[in-house]
Amino acid sequence: MNSMAHLERENLFPVFQDQFGRVKRKLRISVTDRCNFKCAYCMPEHPEWMKKHDLLSFEALYSFCKLMVKHGIEQIRITGGEPLMRQGVVHFIAQLQDLRQYGLKRISMTTNGHYLKLYATDLKKSGLDDLNISLDSLDPEQFYTLTQKPLQPVLEGIHAAQQAGFQIKINAVLIKGCNDNQILPLTRWASKVGAELRFIEFMPLDGDQNWSASSVVTEQEILDVLKTAFSVQIQQGQGANPARSYTADGMPFGIISTISNSFCSSCDRLRLNAQGEFFNCLFSTQGLQLKPYIQAYMSNDCVANLELETALNTYIWHKEPGFHAIQAKQNSSLNSSNKTRKISMYMIGG
Ligand code: SAM
Ligand code: SF4
Repeated sequence: MNSMAHLERENLFPVFQDQFGRVKRKLRISVTDRCNFKCAYCMPEHPEWMKKHDLLSFEALYSFCKLMVKHGIEQIRITGGEPLMRQGVVHFIAQLQDLRQYGLKRISMTTNGHYLKLYATDLKKSGLDDLNISLDSLDPEQFYTLTQKPLQPVLEGIHAAQQAGFQIKINAVLIKGCNDNQILPLTRWASKVGAELRFIEFMPLDGDQNWSASSVVTEQEILDVLKTAFSVQIQQGQGANPARSYTADGMPFGIISTISNSFCSSCDRLRLNAQGEFFNCLFSTQGLQLKPYIQAYMSNDCVANLELETALNTYIWHKEPGFHAIQAKQNSSLNSSNKTRKISMYMIGG
């Protein structure tokens, strides 16, 4: 985009920002809440799936993404549930390519990897830029205990993704006493296969609310283990990236430490779930139901355009400072027996 066109866009479609001056550049779209895995840290024992007829159509998702890109969103991540379980997702990614002319720079996906062997080549052809694949253990039994699915298809999926030409990142959630013995094996394996590893602190977003602070393996604890085997160096310039960057014997890795060392002060993310509920924060207790607004907006009616933009601006503006502020509010409202709403990771998309 040339600079005149850029200025014109900035005037017509100002960027979204919150009351703390954080400009929004990243959008996560959850295309389904359904998943073939049952990760202990995410899925409840008895999930109540969203009704298929309540999901936003890909047409509606595309219209919404177009509006958001015009307002300064530069990166879109497709997530779920398991995004590869929604039919049509590859075609949707191919359609999103059209938004590059309005300033979209990257299209990414987070997946459990189980179906990647089947989809990796098509995803590459659709123009997907990045793949983040979740892998919490290299021990087949431990992997099964954590996810209720076998490890092998995920390893094959990772291989297929690399063969298709993707640079991949591996997401590993660690839970104390469960898979914290995987810190060194995962780091060595990632180096061997040439993938960038990111450890994620376990967050209180599991479906059955079993989370406790004592089950979190903190950034410092991860570093302490790594330092027993590697020379670990911190890298500068995290920016709005949620992962703090390090190297272990020169190979890059990251840690997302939402609990022990949160990155909320630079958060530039927004989220839409599969039935059109919009969240200004992963930990928001209150989303904004956008489905009716988006459907009206698709009819290309000026009033509907204005209503959608006003609703978005107001809701985004009121984003809380971050995770710890929301936790403190929740705790005080729980004490006054005014229960706040619980949103789990599989419903909002991570
Ligand atoms: N199904 C896909 C997957 O697992 O990659 C995409 C959706 S999943 C909700 C997105 C990311 O959230 C995954 O990397 C997963 O490990 C992470 N996640 C899920 N529950 C979490 C929790 N309670 N704390 C931290 N990360 C979590
Ligand atoms: Fe499914 Fe991903 Fe949640 Fe695991 S983390 S249950 S793969 S949505």
